[in-house]
Amino acid sequence: MLREMRNIGIMAHIDAGKTTTTERILFYTGKSHRIGEVDNGEAIMDWMEQEQQRGITIQSAATTTYWKKHQINIIDTPGHVDFTAEVERSLRALDGAIAIFDAVHGVEPQTETVWRQAQRYHVPCVGYVNKMDRLGADFYSVLEDVRNKLGANPVALQIPILIESAFEGVIDLIDMREIRWDGNEGETMTVSPLAGEREKTAKEWREKLIDALSSVSDSITEKYLAGEELDAALVRRELRKAVLKRQILPILTGASRRNMGVQPLIDAIVDYLPAPDEIPPAVGHHLKKEQDVSVPCDPKGQPLGIVFKIQNDREAGSLCYVRMYSGSIKPGAAVYNIGKKKRERANRILRMHSNKSEAMDELSAGDIGVIIGMKLAQTGDTIGSEGWPVLLEKMQFPEPVISVSIEPKTISEQDKLKDILSILSKEDPTFTTRENEETGQLIISGMGELHLDVLVTRILKEYNLSAKVGKPQVTYRESISALAERNENFSRVIAGKENVAGLSLRVEPAERGKGNKYSCTVKNSEIPEEIYNAVERGITGAFASGIVMGYPCIDITVTVTSIIYSENGTEFAFEACASIAFDEACRAASPILLEPIMAVNLTSPHEFVGEVMGLVTQRGGQIFNMEAKADIDEIKAQAPMAQMFGFMTSLRSVSQGRANFSMEFSHFEKKKS
Ligand code: GDP
Ligand code: MG
Repeated sequence: MLREMRNIGIMAHIDAGKTTTTERILFYTGKSHRIGEVDNGEAIMDWMEQEQQRGITIQSAATTTYWKKHQINIIDTPGHVDFTAEVERSLRALDGAIAIFDAVHGVEPQTETVWRQAQRYHVPCVGYVNKMDRLGADFYSVLEDVRNKLGANPVALQIPILIESAFEGVIDLIDMREIRWDGNEGETMTVSPLAGEREKTAKEWREKLIDALSSVSDSITEKYLAGEELDAALVRRELRKAVLKRQILPILTGASRRNMGVQPLIDAIVDYLPAPDEIPPAVGHHLKKEQDVSVPCDPKGQPLGIVFKIQNDREAGSLCYVRMYSGSIKPGAAVYNIGKKKRERANRILRMHSNKSEAMDELSAGDIGVIIGMKLAQTGDTIGSEGWPVLLEKMQFPEPVISVSIEPKTISEQDKLKDILSILSKEDPTFTTRENEETGQLIISGMGELHLDVLVTRILKEYNLSAKVGKPQVTYRESISALAERNENFSRVIAGKENVAGLSLRVEPAERGKGNKYSCTVKNSEIPEEIYNAVERGITGAFASGIVMGYPCIDITVTVTSIIYSENGTEFAFEACASIAFDEACRAASPILLEPIMAVNLTSPHEFVGEVMGLVTQRGGQIFNMEAKADIDEIKAQAPMAQMFGFMTSLRSVSQGRANFSMEFSHFEKKKS
């Protein structure tokens, strides 16, 4: 069963034909396997249809379909490739990918970015040159482009049949035959022998295929040297090995919109892309043993899976898309959220097809399904059992470094906005929200401009909220640069009752990056526990609201050295007193403003590297390293976030759109005034 399973993604530059090709794949596979008529009884929850009736379409993050006894799970890869966290998460869920190239444009900047991501995760790929019907389509120059720009080893498994430059079909170089498509929807494939005038070219290209293959396969080399016939099954088998090792990028071609070329592409998914147990086992971190462990793809093992996407459904709640890595989960079972250390119930498990969902009675290793019933789970969470607490993805909450304010037009919309934000934070746990105490504005902080842009667009468009959105701003931090002590007394009469508190504390700077630390050296059993807690609450609450500018505090060590408790001492008084004492002490401890410094990774074709580096230094960046790769240069730099607004636009314009960058938070540094 596992061997007949494929988890794949389709990667493409925008407009290369990802949607068209995916639809065609679902169409042909749906024809061969009448999924729409599977009898699911009342377990079917056709939420997609319901959503459509309500005027919203949720695009499934993973769709299952069948082809020649194989199950293919197609995982949606996000359109925004700059959105690293999401791309990487979807790359975790899939085992192989189709890279679509536009026959006219060849390798485009975005394709380069995705390609490098796939490379980093060692994802085996099959290439597909689409839009061969377009004027200016050039299959052979796309091959060159792939070799030169991506540094890949493209090997044509097909070449186009062009009659007076019109695309008629393909020559299959493995079976040495011609394929054409007929019928309204290209559902009929007509296979014919090679026509005489094309035989010579076909032989040349088959020769190249065998050459490439023999340089990585001994059995091909031996047979080839012995002059033996290379049968198609052997060629496919050896190709498969080479693709899994990423030694060869097999290339197919077609015109998806004209219904040409898609069936062989689906064959290639089955023939060359890996089954879940053919890739190296996942690595997780065992929380009790505090060491990394290997997670073999074994349906009989301990359950372990990752929530790689959450979609919100108004009726069903959170749809958690889970990729299982080990063991299995049954509907109704308790699942353990390993990072959050909380148990939840998997009420129902569904398999999503292109137009239906189907109840599953088990979700097991290697497979992908939707779990309904988990309320706490967030994208990126690992689920499993208490007996094997292994985290598949370290919960990393990147420091939010930029923010925007959102101000709805009415009070009722303000409440709606809060609801939307709580839904969105499940799907994407990497942004934070706070309310500006003075203005009442909601401030959303995220990892970068694009991140906030996508969030804001979703709030305004998807949820139809009308609101005023501020300009993106850097989220600074506040800290102190000296030691200070403070004795504080507090007394207030509220409703005829006296509230009294007194305490002393010390604040001192902590090492950069260590965070805030609270401790209390007072050990007096006559002081109630609630009072200690109130003091701590007062101070940790004050961390969030800043010192002078209202930015969150970091790297401050606070020690409470005495607590003066009397019979009029109340929790309220101690919380307030602690907060005031902390504020006053920090003000006296030479407060400073810290700014986020970003780690910036750039890639640039050799010819633009000078301009690209110039751009980084202009913006106050420092370059640490430059590495020349076959086709591009990789540059590592650091720069203050405040200087990086709009960087993408400048970068694209100095490099004809070909340089790329990604950026993540590195550390905080004292702001140069
Ligand atoms: P995506 O952005 O990668 O999802 O691309 P789409 O599938 O939305 O396609 C972008 C545009 O290219 C649409 O107008 C399609 O109709 C068109 N397109 C897709 N495949 C082909 C093709 O094989 N030939 C031609 N001429 N156009 C195509
Ligand atoms: Mg699309």
